[in-house]
Amino acid sequence: MIILLYFGRIFAYGWRRHTFTPIEATLEVLSSRYGLAIRLDQQSRQVSDRIGFARSVSYDTTPYSEAVVPVSSIRRELGLYPPQYIRSLNLKRIKIVRNLSESSYGGQIKDIGAIPVIKQGFLYLNDDGDPLQLIQSIHHELSHFTDGDISPIWGRRKRKEWVELNPKGAAAYKVVPDYISDRSVEGERPQGFVSLYGTFSPEEDRAQVASVLMTMARAPGDYLKRLMERDKVLGAKVLATIAGIRQRSGTAIRGTYLEDLQSKKVDEDYWDSKTA
Ligand SMILES: [Zn+2]
Repeated sequence: MIILLYFGRIFAYGWRRHTFTPIEATLEVLSSRYGLAIRLDQQSRQVSDRIGFARSVSYDTTPYSEAVVPVSSIRRELGLYPPQYIRSLNLKRIKIVRNLSESSYGGQIKDIGAIPVIKQGFLYLNDDGDPLQLIQSIHHELSHFTDGDISPIWGRRKRKEWVELNPKGAAAYKVVPDYISDRSVEGERPQGFVSLYGTFSPEEDRAQVASVLMTMARAPGDYLKRLMERDKVLGAKVLATIAGIRQRSGTAIRGTYLEDLQSKKVDEDYWDSKTA
């Protein structure tokens, strides 16, 4: 008994003294700051998860040793939002995976960038692609965790406000195939939208705007600022997105948040002095 206790203490002591590797330290911060777990495996293996009625996702797990960059990217990107905002999303787990596909009655879709499972608070992120795409996916999907805010059932008023930012109102949203993942901002983008894909629904529109706001605000040459000046409707959507972040955070966030994002002043430490 004494020996067991003795060994127990050594183990506990050793554990406490254990120096965190960068990835462990990052996971620790994500878990304590946002209540968020990141799921990684020792080895790559094939997994299939049920995510709803007749709906499942299949993927290969990403080995712990190979996910260092995505995990630190996730931490950096989440740090752009007020911690209260991230906690309000009820996001519990991010799984960094490869070869992500989804099966349902409609068939199988392969090579998906990301899948949010909002009810369970899960987010699957495919790290097969290029880093910018991964980062854009994070912001796009985080926005989907707020879809309830403008749902036809629960958030009718907010949905109306968003839809009416378009000069054409609801007619701006037409049915485009949901496999169009055109992310180009400057290509064939309709006025008021980030890309053709945004015209799919108000929810996709918001997700695309959030993605551009959070990734392009830091781009060189005042990219976002100039885009907002050129396209007033898109500019109004960016401001509405910031208003939404403020509202959900439940705290006063700086009036200069957008400017601070653009001048790269916003990082995790920014929120220590968050009051307006
Ligand atoms: Zn989407």
